[in-house]
Amino acid sequence: MAAKIIDGKTISAAVKEQVRAEIERDRIKAGLAVVIVGDDPASRVYVNNKKKACELCGIQSFEYALPAETSEEQLLELVDTLNSDDKVNGILVQLPLPKHLDEKKVIERISPLKDVDAFHEMNVGKIMIGNYAFLPCTPAGCMELIRSTGVDIAGKECVVIGRSNIVGKPMAMLLLHANGTVTVCHSKTHDLPEVCRRADILIAAVGKPNFVTADMVKPGAVVIDVGINRMENGKLCGDVKFDEVSEKAGFITPVPGGVGPMTIAMLMRNTLTAAKIQAK
Ligand code: NDP
Repeated sequence: MAAKIIDGKTISAAVKEQVRAEIERDRIKAGLAVVIVGDDPASRVYVNNKKKACELCGIQSFEYALPAETSEEQLLELVDTLNSDDKVNGILVQLPLPKHLDEKKVIERISPLKDVDAFHEMNVGKIMIGNYAFLPCTPAGCMELIRSTGVDIAGKECVVIGRSNIVGKPMAMLLLHANGTVTVCHSKTHDLPEVCRRADILIAAVGKPNFVTADMVKPGAVVIDVGINRMENGKLCGDVKFDEVSEKAGFITPVPGGVGPMTIAMLMRNTLTAAKIQAK
C-alpha cells in the first residue's frame, strides 16, 4: 500500500498563519535580520524564501548581503550592531560561510536571546536539558511533521541517520524528549540497513541522494527526509529513494515540499518567540 504523503507545504502554511495571526492580534513588532556572505546560489534562494515568509507573517526583515571577501572583524562588528538593535529580535547568519570565516566564532557572537537558529552553545545546552525557548528550525519542523501523522512518538523506535550539530544531534534530542527510543547512525555505523529496519520513525539527514532504499524501511514506518541534494539536471532530490520507499512506508515527506518549508515556518515561530521574550 502506498504511503500517505506528509504535506510540508500545507502544514508550514498553517504554522505561518498562526504566527501572522498572533502578531496581528497582539500588535507585536518582530524583526529578523538575515546576514548572507558571498554569493552561493543555494544560500541566496534560502534567504529569499525567508524574506518572503517574513512578509507573509508581518515580521520586518532586514537583509545584509556582504561580499565574499568580508573580513571576520567586519562580520563580527555587524553582529554586535544587530545584537544591540531593538528592532532586530532574531539574527540569522546564513551558513555555510566562506572558508576564511570562523562559523563557530560568528555564531557564538550572536546574542543567545536573538539566536533564532538555536545554534549558539547556550541554546544547544538548553535543548539538551529540555529547557528551551528556541528549537532548532529543521528538527523542530520534523517534529511537527511527525505529529501531523497522529503517530505517537512515545515508546517508538526512532532512528536518525546523521549526527550533525544542526540536524542529527538536536533531532535525536527532540525525539528523546518526546519519549522515543532513539538510535543515532553515522558513517561508522555497522549494518545500517538492519538498524534502519527497526525504525518506526526514520529520519534521514545524510546529504546523499537516494541513500535510503526500500529494503532499509520497516513496513508502515514514518519516513522523514531532511536531505536536500541538487542533481545535475538542477532538480532537488532527498536522501530517500522516494518512489520505492513510498510503496512501503506508512507516511513519507516529499522533497521538495516536506521538511524544507517547515524549517522556514519554524524560523518565523522562533522570531515571534524572540520578540515576545525581549519585550518582557
Ligand atoms: P552533514 O554533512 O553535516 O552530516 C551528514 C551526516 O550523515 C554525518 O553525521 C555523516 O556521518 C552521516 N553520513 C554520511 N555518510 C553516511 C553513511 N554512508 N552512512 C551513515 N551515515 C552517513 O549534513 P547536515 O546534517 O548539515 O545535512 C544533512 C542533509 O540535510 C543535507 O542534504 C542538507 O542539505 C539537508 N538539510 C536540509 C535542511 C532543510 O531545511 N530541509 C536544513 C539543513 C540541512 P559522520 O558524522 O560519521 O561523518
